[in-house]
Amino acid sequence: MTIVETLTLMLALVYSTSLLYWSGKKWGAAISAGLLCAAFAITLYWPLLIGLILASITLFILKKRQPELAQAEVRANPLRELIQHTLALSMLLVGIQFAANSAMLYMGKTPWLMRPDVGDAFLPIAGGIELKAIISLGIWDQTHPAAAVMLTVVLLTGLLCKRAFCGWACPLGLAGEYLYKLRKRVIKQEFAPPAWLDWPLRMVKYLILAGLLFIILTMPSAAIPHYLSGNYHKIADLKMALFFVTPGLITLACFGFILFLAAWRRQGFCRYICPYGGLLGIVSFASPFKIRRSSKHCLIESKGMNCDKCTRACPANIKVHDQGVIRSDECQACMRCVSACPKKEALHFSTRNGIKLSARGLTIMLLSLLFMLPLLAYVCGFWVSETPTDIRMYLIQHLNSIGH
Ligand code: SF4
Ligand code: SF4
Repeated sequence: MTIVETLTLMLALVYSTSLLYWSGKKWGAAISAGLLCAAFAITLYWPLLIGLILASITLFILKKRQPELAQAEVRANPLRELIQHTLALSMLLVGIQFAANSAMLYMGKTPWLMRPDVGDAFLPIAGGIELKAIISLGIWDQTHPAAAVMLTVVLLTGLLCKRAFCGWACPLGLAGEYLYKLRKRVIKQEFAPPAWLDWPLRMVKYLILAGLLFIILTMPSAAIPHYLSGNYHKIADLKMALFFVTPGLITLACFGFILFLAAWRRQGFCRYICPYGGLLGIVSFASPFKIRRSSKHCLIESKGMNCDKCTRACPANIKVHDQGVIRSDECQACMRCVSACPKKEALHFSTRNGIKLSARGLTIMLLSLLFMLPLLAYVCGFWVSETPTDIRMYLIQHLNSIGH
């Protein structure tokens, strides 16, 4: 695990542990802190300890300067932005480290910067094939183990807290948000497509997802061990990077279209194209937590007033003020609607039997899901790729001649 990965992991887990403490769940905080210390005691990997200390110092400083944010006693928006920007910064550093590691390999030098394994999160097909190998054959891939771990983690977030991964963690979603805001500065007009066009466009991401699932599901189980031990799988991450670094004309046109979509409509990329968004949209139907509107407290029913503040705040164009329960696959659990509502009790992110998750609760759940499983995987030796550096160095020199 690289320093950037370790620091991000510890920062997230120390923060969620401290939030458990501040919300009165002292036992939860003690167990979480115990797990962090146990992870270091088992691995004796000193960056984990350094990460633990630095994360504690960072939180201490945050507590001194912005106590409300440190204790998550703020509304959802600043909390979500803090998490989104921290994770985006981490992914940016991971990307730079991956590029530096690959460049050194390409030049035939032994890299002094480690390869960040979390980058395998960008290999959803490899992750899917690895999960299939685990389920159908009991084979645990050691070439890109983090791909299966991260796919599982993201699926779990969808199962438990809707598309909170998209709304709170995804760096691409955040980049799209900035692009959209930039476009709005230049051209103020909204370009939301009419409903008859919006629906088929939304289905595009499910078509892309179906294509990816087709590749994974139609691969015969007997062929999986061969694939996992092959050279293509060993450098799937480098192939993916090469695809982005040296795009052809068609790829450039696709990138241009994606940028156009993101700028044209808020969350355009997440809504229309992103297959991860599609996957989480489907899984999120099973999530017990949903945005629920209480007609007893909502100003519309309780006071007979006209109010649609929640709907106007929703970036996914969901008519929140019209519905009792938001089941939409586009809901990213961003809680903007909850923040915008003038009646404290009218809107909640809760289960059917009334268990409520505040912005702080969602932060704890999301960070624990996103980082506790990777830490466990690391401790169990199922995170770091076992492909030797000299093999990667050899393969990167012959990248173009290696196919499926
Ligand atoms: S319904 Fe609320 S939580 Fe869901 S996307 Fe809209 S604003 Fe966000
Ligand atoms: S903002 Fe709150 S009070 Fe207004 S319609 Fe939505 S839920 Fe009801």
